[in-house]
Amino acid sequence: PAMVELQGVSKRYADVDALHPVDLTIAKGEFVTLLGPSGSGKSTLLNLIAGMVAPSSGRIVIDGRDATTLPTNQRGLGMVFQNYALMPHMTVFENIAFPLQVRKVPKAEIRRRVGAVLDLIQLGHVANRRPRELSGGQQQRISLARCIVYNPALILMDEPLGALDKKLREQMQLEIKRLHAELGITMLYVTHDQDEALTMSDRIVLMNGGRIEQQGTPDTLYFRP
Ligand code: ADP
Ligand code: ADP
Repeated sequence: PAMVELQGVSKRYADVDALHPVDLTIAKGEFVTLLGPSGSGKSTLLNLIAGMVAPSSGRIVIDGRDATTLPTNQRGLGMVFQNYALMPHMTVFENIAFPLQVRKVPKAEIRRRVGAVLDLIQLGHVANRRPRELSGGQQQRISLARCIVYNPALILMDEPLGALDKKLREQMQLEIKRLHAELGITMLYVTHDQDEALTMSDRIVLMNGGRIEQQGTPDTLYFRP
């Protein structure tokens, strides 16, 4: 079954076709990567699914529900950004607990669930620190934890490792893959890094000039020199 279905979805800004009409289906549990150069429409496609951008045409179905005009917070998805977007005045624990507090989850349950994801990302020992006291890699793991703590069926990640150095990036690629395998969450991942896409994805969607140029599994995809 499909987690996401785009039917003829496009986006035009003033005089720029950021995205020509695309059809795209993402299966439940799949790890799909949008790969392409800067300006090819990757973020636009992701932001359309997220509900941060309204489509100029087409229909967006998420988990069997027409989501075309649903606000972001009703789409049942989590997002991870390049700049972590953690709240600086809150501790690590409070940052991760925040989406549960917003959903009025009882305190004891919050403690249990935040503890569980801190174990999962192996950062229980920094629960009471603030984001600025942590490394970039740790901060990115916390923003991942904040995302998975409320069990979204779908996670969208826009260049989440872009701010990290090469070694940390490779470590985090494995971490994200491990979480995907363990939790079975559907992942849509945006990168312009070909190696990253090849390492992580079940399927790569290659974008160029606001269109889907080709798509396939990493071993069947044909890259132009
Ligand atoms: P990326 O390549 O990672 O998508 P960009 O620098 O292209 O980053 O875009 C950063 C932000 O600026 C995005 O939110 C995008 O929607 C917005 N943006 C990009 N191009 C334009 C533009 N020509 N006019 C206004 N906003 C833009
Ligand atoms: P990518 O994520 O692949 O870098 P984007 O989706 O950010 O590509 O951008 C696709 C095209 O749409 C680019 O030409 C960009 O400048 C343009 N664009 C993106 N956001 C905006 C915006 N808010 N206003 C105007 N143009 C935009």
